[in-house]
Amino acid sequence: MILQRLKSKWIFPVDRPPIENGLIEIVDGVITAVRAAEPHEVAIDFGDVAILPGLVNAHTHLEFSLVEQPFQPAQPFTDWIRSLVAYRRQVAPTSAKPCVALNIGAIESLASGTTLLGEIATSGWDELFMPTHGPQIVAFCELIGLRPSTIDQQIQIAEEWLARKSQLAPVTYGLSPHAPYSVSPELLQRSVELAKRFNAAVAIHLAETREELEFLADGRGPFVELLKSFSAWPEQGLPTGRRPLDILRALADAPRALVVHGNYLAADEIEFIAARPHMSVVFCPRTHEFFGHEPHPWRQLLAKGANVALGTDGRGSNPDLSLWNELVFLRKRFPDVAPSTLLKLGTLAGARALGCEHDCGTITPGKRADLVVVSVGGCGEPHEALITADSQIVRTLCGGQMG
Ligand SMILES: [Zn+2]
Repeated sequence: MILQRLKSKWIFPVDRPPIENGLIEIVDGVITAVRAAEPHEVAIDFGDVAILPGLVNAHTHLEFSLVEQPFQPAQPFTDWIRSLVAYRRQVAPTSAKPCVALNIGAIESLASGTTLLGEIATSGWDELFMPTHGPQIVAFCELIGLRPSTIDQQIQIAEEWLARKSQLAPVTYGLSPHAPYSVSPELLQRSVELAKRFNAAVAIHLAETREELEFLADGRGPFVELLKSFSAWPEQGLPTGRRPLDILRALADAPRALVVHGNYLAADEIEFIAARPHMSVVFCPRTHEFFGHEPHPWRQLLAKGANVALGTDGRGSNPDLSLWNELVFLRKRFPDVAPSTLLKLGTLAGARALGCEHDCGTITPGKRADLVVVSVGGCGEPHEALITADSQIVRTLCGGQMG
């Protein structure tokens, strides 16, 4: 049995108020107690810092972790996708580069305080490239296919993916039918059925751009041109008269569903998600800013009681993979939102979105000791002092192990 006691000036359990001069007791990597420290109690003393639950980055693409600057241009979105596809083609999947990118990205995430990642995995992704001691990863296999001839093959890949058992790294498996403009209604429906069978989570990019709404409604616009140029457009076309709500209805059958972005969700779509606790929206604040979208409805979602998690997205649209930097960005941009709310979005809400709330997301007895130590930059009310541009991630612990 390995017993650890950690103490610090502040502990933010997230499921209850901050504890001043607090102590966390850990046995074999699992939290057994969180309380105020007794005077002179023997413990590893981190000093004048705060200990928080490890951060949760609910949406990323580690394959782009070696990209130094986000892809250009940011607009129109379909040109940004063309730059992304050109990058993928230039980095040969047979070279070592994609594996290095996955590993470097996981390590960067860990160093910036992330202990749980929602990762979109493309061909060649393997747990082999992940660090053994965290972060925990929910790896969503990306599925793409609009032509009927591609669907059986995609479903076979998905089934093999979900049958994987992780042995080397803390990975669980989910599915990501990519987006409404790259996945046919049949592929979406069959992915959700498969996820149900394996009790797996499903993530989809949805309501990301106005062009996507046009594509769903009329089967027209820049996405059609993009798909034709990739020879991916189905000859018989796709059903029109649709909207994100139709996709949400299909998705709602999944055991856990992540609506990635949701930049242009309508009021009834927000209601639909809020009424279903197993559905979440993943808001990627700096990526949202990079593309110059209209204001994101995250506060409307929260007001309706929906679960809103945060993500960085990949380095193709964000300068780094730091979830902490997303919190600092939101704190600065939305000073009227309570910092305790932001902290919850970056921890417990992300764990809920990924189906891991029983195991992490708060500092609670019985959960894994996934923790992040932060130097406190400001002063005043503890939450106010915590999320500032001067605060620094000092250390990340996964299951009590120091990274
Ligand atoms: Zn994405």
